[in-house]
Amino acid sequence: MDIAVILILFLFGISVGSFLNVVADRVPLGKSIIHPPSHCINCGHELEPRDLFPIISYLLLRGKCRYCGHAITVRSMLVELATGLLFVLAFTVFGVTWQFPAVLIYCSLFIVLLITDFEQGVLPHVIVYPGIALALALALSKPLTGIVPNFIDSAAGLGLSFGFFFLLWAIPRIFKKSILGFGDVGMAGLIGASVGYPQVLVALCFAVLAGGLSAALLIIFKVRKLNEPLQFGPFLASAGLITLFYGKDIFDACRMLFW
Ligand SMILES: [Zn+2]
Repeated sequence: MDIAVILILFLFGISVGSFLNVVADRVPLGKSIIHPPSHCINCGHELEPRDLFPIISYLLLRGKCRYCGHAITVRSMLVELATGLLFVLAFTVFGVTWQFPAVLIYCSLFIVLLITDFEQGVLPHVIVYPGIALALALALSKPLTGIVPNFIDSAAGLGLSFGFFFLLWAIPRIFKKSILGFGDVGMAGLIGASVGYPQVLVALCFAVLAGGLSAALLIIFKVRKLNEPLQFGPFLASAGLITLFYGKDIFDACRMLFW
């Protein structure tokens, strides 16, 4: 494959990653993603273009603000790197198809939600529900673009995933307990609508297994209490990413194995 294409995609990916950092930092706080321009969270100094180059600026500044020396979170660089790598991976998996830009959009949505839930414990409705509408709209375009899933499968994925997580949310409430927040229900719906039926089954298996296992380990090692709601977003996001890229292969392999 052309190394120039990969390099351009990687640079595009790390720039998008840089923007996703801003979105993840500001949207949960209800702040604008455009104004004010990027600035140091400690001294408030507005960052110059040379401070804003993804990954490189972080490395050159050795992870510290140029103006006050305050530590910059390493997360911003990791997100930029991960986004760049995922964009390249998306191209190697999907090539020049309409599926490719659609997957880039879903990757970006999942990454933002992974960060907001992991760091702030929120999955903002202003990202989740427009995301679901977008996924359904993209699925509706299948006759023109060939984007998978089609609208019926996307809606079925949404219903199944949203419904399953709604039960996980609602049933414990009957017993005055809670194992997850309603944000997780919406995010599960977003993942279902993005990957569609039947791939949604793969995503649900991964998310529930990974989330359940981590919850059990955290309880065993007494990091969290039995009745504390689990942050399911990072598990849903990871399961969604795996399913976006390999959901069909995994589903087909399971079908061969089991029936
Ligand atoms: Zn500073």
